[in-house]
Amino acid sequence: MADKRDYYEVLGVDKNADSATIKKAYRKLAKKYHPDANPGDEEAASKFKEASEAYAVLSDDSKRKQYDQFGHAAFDGSGGAGGFDFNGADFSDIFGGFGDIFGDIFGGGSRRSSRANNGPMRGADVRVGITINFNEAVFGCKKEVTINFKETCSKCNGTGAKPGTSPEKCSKCGGRGQYVSQQQTLFGTMQSVTTCPDCNGTGKVIKEKCPDCYGAGYISKKKKVSVDIPAGIDDRQSIRITGQGEPGRNGGPRGDLLVDIRVRPSNEFERHGMDIYTTTSISFAQAALGGDIRVKTIDGDVKFNIKPGTQTGTRIRLKGKGVCHVRNNSMRGDQYSTLVVKVPTKLTSEQKELIKKFDAVSGNTLNEFGEDKHETAEDKIKKFFKK
Ligand SMILES: [Zn+2]
Ligand SMILES: [Zn+2]
Repeated sequence: MADKRDYYEVLGVDKNADSATIKKAYRKLAKKYHPDANPGDEEAASKFKEASEAYAVLSDDSKRKQYDQFGHAAFDGSGGAGGFDFNGADFSDIFGGFGDIFGDIFGGGSRRSSRANNGPMRGADVRVGITINFNEAVFGCKKEVTINFKETCSKCNGTGAKPGTSPEKCSKCGGRGQYVSQQQTLFGTMQSVTTCPDCNGTGKVIKEKCPDCYGAGYISKKKKVSVDIPAGIDDRQSIRITGQGEPGRNGGPRGDLLVDIRVRPSNEFERHGMDIYTTTSISFAQAALGGDIRVKTIDGDVKFNIKPGTQTGTRIRLKGKGVCHVRNNSMRGDQYSTLVVKVPTKLTSEQKELIKKFDAVSGNTLNEFGEDKHETAEDKIKKFFKK
């Protein structure tokens, strides 16, 4: 707790300041650093927290006495490591203060509530998911998705009110669509401007609902949307189709439809971005003597020349045989294939004979320990009768 600032210093008040001065100093700071006035500003958030903590102590007579006597150590044990215990802090006073602060910032036809709720608002985006197979992702495809499309109700023109009537100003929030909630815990909810539950934030309530849409202003219909999936799309990418999302409010534009793409993996090709990875089997003869081998690619089989003495595990690169860029089809990745030398598992006696001959003239590894351990019973009988 060594880095903790003195509470009086935090509030910028004298050690002998009276409670009115402390409250005034705190309200000034809280207003300046309030998270709602500084969205996304972490420094402001921590200053706000620091000031609130200082105020919670200095506004409480007994806590203030403890603090004056012992400093921060007075509260170290109660709140755990770095924490702070607010039990007994004067909540009503603090929240009363917040109420006023909120009133100052947001009250009376404030910029925030009026703009957010009474002006045109874009509709929300809608997400759907589709799964396509590997080749469809690589080469592109056309798919159809069925969505719930909210169409503006033609009977009420989207107002939700019975024809001949119109929505009225919400009495609960006075048409602002939101109000300040005061029943929340201290730190988590400083930004507790709550959407009005009566009007769902629209600022309007419908007394007589439209018989066709039951007040919703729109009618949900199943709609088929065709989706052009571009070549090169990858797993977990999305396609945005403008204007197919939720309807806007107060004349705002519709949201968009987002199609989330999942791609089924392929048994043969592994994809990393635009590059493709495969494994290609080659024979011992091909590995030893070199020459043309057959490599499977997304375009079909291609010929690739390997040099004599190619080892198993060698990785070859086929330039331009990867996946094309999703926004530029002329750009393509590469294919990397790992060569694996196939060892035959079933050999005819002729093949065995040839391998033994080969071995005999190239190191004689089979007879390294003086006897032919690879002799079969059949071989032994033959040998016996030859003698
Ligand atoms: Zn209607
Ligand atoms: Zn309301």
